[in-house]
Amino acid sequence: MSVLVVTGASAGIGAATALLAAERGWDVAISYKANAAGAEKVAAGVRAAGRRALAMRADAANEAETVAFFARVDAELGSLDGLVNNAGITGPAHRIDDVTGAMLTELFAINITGTFLATREAIKRMAKDRGGKGGVIVNVSSRAAEIGGGGTWVHYAASKGAVDSATIGAARELAPRGIRVNAVAPGPIETEIHAKAGVGDRLAQLAAVVPMGRAGTVDEVARAILFLLSEESSYITGAVLPIGGGR
Ligand code: NAD
Repeated sequence: MSVLVVTGASAGIGAATALLAAERGWDVAISYKANAAGAEKVAAGVRAAGRRALAMRADAANEAETVAFFARVDAELGSLDGLVNNAGITGPAHRIDDVTGAMLTELFAINITGTFLATREAIKRMAKDRGGKGGVIVNVSSRAAEIGGGGTWVHYAASKGAVDSATIGAARELAPRGIRVNAVAPGPIETEIHAKAGVGDRLAQLAAVVPMGRAGTVDEVARAILFLLSEESSYITGAVLPIGGGR
């Protein structure tokens, strides 16, 4: 029996990942910030697949809430085997001229601090030199990290560039301790994240510059995450896998 944490899994890529993980035999704990109904629906889906589920409100950017979430996973699901750092926001679309300090603080707190805090909690439980049995971590980055987001998302792209650096560094730090760390870097994927940023029509525009001519689906990202969580990728660590239809 394997236990997986997926952060920010009340909707979108995180929800699809939690549901596919349950189909593949994982018990799944999900965190969310505001969408309790979405999180409970995902937990019900995990249970319908015959696995155990836990949904808890825990802001990825909040250290105390993250610590409490992992403690509850220990108590209710048992020893941890995997973590997907999925919780993330883009912030509103802006040129750099219009970026505010408050926006940057919130963005980096969720996308970077959140990834570090959850990774730290997972290491405490999974690292072999801390009494764990090893494990696997998958970070959700973005193709924006390489493309740069000029004109709309430089702030977001920079936060995901930091996720890539953290992935590579953590992979090297944790390989001798029994933990693999990889990232997926999705291109435009059909979720609500674009509308939340005030650019709901952006997917159609982006699809035009994707060589495959379309946006991706949450299931296409979830399948790649499940590959990186599985023994099928047993010699892969420190990789950032583009899922961008060729872009
Ligand atoms: P979404 O807005 O549909 O879902 C985001 C999820 O994160 C939600 O479940 C939300 O509740 C959660 N979340 C947000 N802030 C949180 C916080 N502070 N604490 C806990 N949970 C929080 O977006 P999505 O498209 O599914 O995005 C998931 C991840 O994929 C993000 O890291 C995003 O940057 C990344 N991504 C998305 C795309 C895309 O085109 N959709 C492309 C590249 C990368």
